[in-house]
Amino acid sequence: MKKIIIAIDGFSSCGKSTMAKDLAKAIGYIYIDSGAMYRAVTLYCIEHHLFEADGKIKEDILKHELQNIRIQFQTDPESKRSVTYLNGTNVEERIRMLDVSSLVSPIAALGFVREALVRQQQEMGKRKGIVMDGRDIGTTVFPNAELKIFVTASPEIRAKRRFDELKAKGQTVNLEEIKQNIEQRDHIDQTRTVSPLQRANDAILLDNSHLTIEEQRNWLIKQYQKAANA
Ligand code: C5P
Repeated sequence: MKKIIIAIDGFSSCGKSTMAKDLAKAIGYIYIDSGAMYRAVTLYCIEHHLFEADGKIKEDILKHELQNIRIQFQTDPESKRSVTYLNGTNVEERIRMLDVSSLVSPIAALGFVREALVRQQQEMGKRKGIVMDGRDIGTTVFPNAELKIFVTASPEIRAKRRFDELKAKGQTVNLEEIKQNIEQRDHIDQTRTVSPLQRANDAILLDNSHLTIEEQRNWLIKQYQKAANA
């Protein structure tokens, strides 16, 4: 079987990361969560006061400071999970909080931010054997990926999944607020000028609204075997 690149794109909160992580583990591939990189840049902006009171981004300062933002992934030896580090600090939990979710899409719409992160993502995929999830992986980051999946699910189901996930982490959350955030991010992601969220022509569509994790896993492994044996 040849080593391939697997690109998993789709809407917010439709379980991309869970399935990508799961698949990578099952087939011994590296997993990269590209959304975590945009979230880490957003957290940096929050911590360094790069948002004006009205939410406007201090773009010139960010452009200049981008070189100071170091994002790394490390596997936690206990949980065996990939953990996101921002300039040496574990920010895995912090970047999933709602304040970061609310501000990340405008940050991800900035061309110079995308350029810098896409370059790093392409570097990570040089040796193949990688599963990367995001919004533009099959269209921009790896247009030649051997396997591309585009995931979707209904907004209600996605909001409920996110709600359950954050609640399980002990966060106080509101279902309606989460739904609004998901819809708003989808809108910004689909309408931005640079690398908008769209299905690549050769991506396989997966609507997982009514699939169990197990059914989804089996389906994915089959797609992987087909692509790696082609
Ligand atoms: O995947 P996740 O929901 O964590 O991504 C957070 C945000 O980062 C998305 O809503 C989107 O605005 C942005 N993103 C992106 N391109 C990617 C991955 C994420 O624009 N490849």
